[in-house]
Amino acid sequence: MDQRVSKLIGSYKEDYAAMLTRWVQIPSVKGEAADGAPFGRDVRRMLDTAVADIEAMGFPTRVFDGYAADATFGPEDQEMIAVLGHLDVVPAGDGWEVPPFSARREGEKIIGRGTGDDKGPVLAALFAMKAIREAGIPLKKSIRLILGCDEESDWGCMNWYCAHARMPEIGFSPDASFPIINTEKGMVHMFVQAPVSADGLQVKEHFTGERVNVIPGESVALLAGGQELADQVAAFAAKTGLDYKAEVLSEGVRVTATGIPGHSAYPWGRKNAIGMMLILLRELGVQGALRTLADAYPMEHNGEHLGIQCEDDISGELTCNMGILHLEDGRITASLDCRCPVNADLEQISANIKAHLPGFAVVDESKKAPHHVPAESELVQALLGAFHDQTGLPAEPESTGGGTYAKVLKQGVAFGASFPGDPDLAHQANEYIEIDKMMLATKIYADALLRLCAE
Ligand SMILES: [Zn+2]
Repeated sequence: MDQRVSKLIGSYKEDYAAMLTRWVQIPSVKGEAADGAPFGRDVRRMLDTAVADIEAMGFPTRVFDGYAADATFGPEDQEMIAVLGHLDVVPAGDGWEVPPFSARREGEKIIGRGTGDDKGPVLAALFAMKAIREAGIPLKKSIRLILGCDEESDWGCMNWYCAHARMPEIGFSPDASFPIINTEKGMVHMFVQAPVSADGLQVKEHFTGERVNVIPGESVALLAGGQELADQVAAFAAKTGLDYKAEVLSEGVRVTATGIPGHSAYPWGRKNAIGMMLILLRELGVQGALRTLADAYPMEHNGEHLGIQCEDDISGELTCNMGILHLEDGRITASLDCRCPVNADLEQISANIKAHLPGFAVVDESKKAPHHVPAESELVQALLGAFHDQTGLPAEPESTGGGTYAKVLKQGVAFGASFPGDPDLAHQANEYIEIDKMMLATKIYADALLRLCAE
């Protein structure tokens, strides 16, 4: 990369840290809509702050009614490379060791909600643009930074932006991890319902899970029975090595299954407590719909017993999660969240699930097509080259079952800014960035943008 750009970036460190501190101190969590502030006043304040800072760096900006903003730099009427980030953050949640919006600095770290997702990476991309501009490097394509305000919820920002501005076709989103994510699996979400059986073990209460995309860590059921049933639970726990507890009450036996919670797109090493409960209920003699569910989803995340197990080289294996299992008014409702390889046929997957759940009615279903930018494309090759040259690390494109902002772009990939081996801190307590790593990310972004845009 051009030495001037590299040197300039080195000189930005404290400016970067100061700006990130100010941005993180604005708690831009989605709130009640107000005039000119569709995602609440704090998000609007964040947008105005960002726009003022970007203008002060010398980039002309446009604001889209409080939904989004952009800043473009380079020759007009030429192809654009988009950099897509967001200014909103998820709520702080519990477990913080420092006030979550204090942006406390501890040595090389800045700790706070939004440091890594996504304000720190956005600023890395912005400072990369600043360095390219100050070095006076002529561009043949322009660079457009687009900042959304609703990424963590409904992407209303990008819908609005696309309706009011021309969205570039090619670009990257600094809102995930290096080296690069060029593949997002397709998705099938389904809610199914069936009456419970009057035969066999009776389940009096069961209500686990609120979200389809969460692997529940605990599942509690109230079963008709007494000490003998509790003993059977204990025997099954001993046999399987799984964590079940049974408590004999006057109204029945309360059973708790404790698994390992997580995100449905990343089930490896997790244990779905609903799956645990289902195989226990089957062992205890449940019949009808719950038995069918246990047979179809026996604590496995590859969909084998739903007849949907598949994989491909680009994206890896299909994953399947039951995030919700509710018993209400004599009926059970269950959700399935399947993340499907790029080459899988979503219609076929849907049909196979239905065939393996006889007696169930599908009450809601949605599908999302996969997103894939070929590894040989100019975009992916440029980004991999920049990452490798700046870090010396191997650079292979990756696949995710999660969703990234990048798919707003026809040819969009997720690119940084967490590094291989970094802990996954997005949406967690004590989220932080390391300033030196963000300066390295800034160099990677500058290098990538130069490969794509310099004359
Ligand atoms: Zn994000």
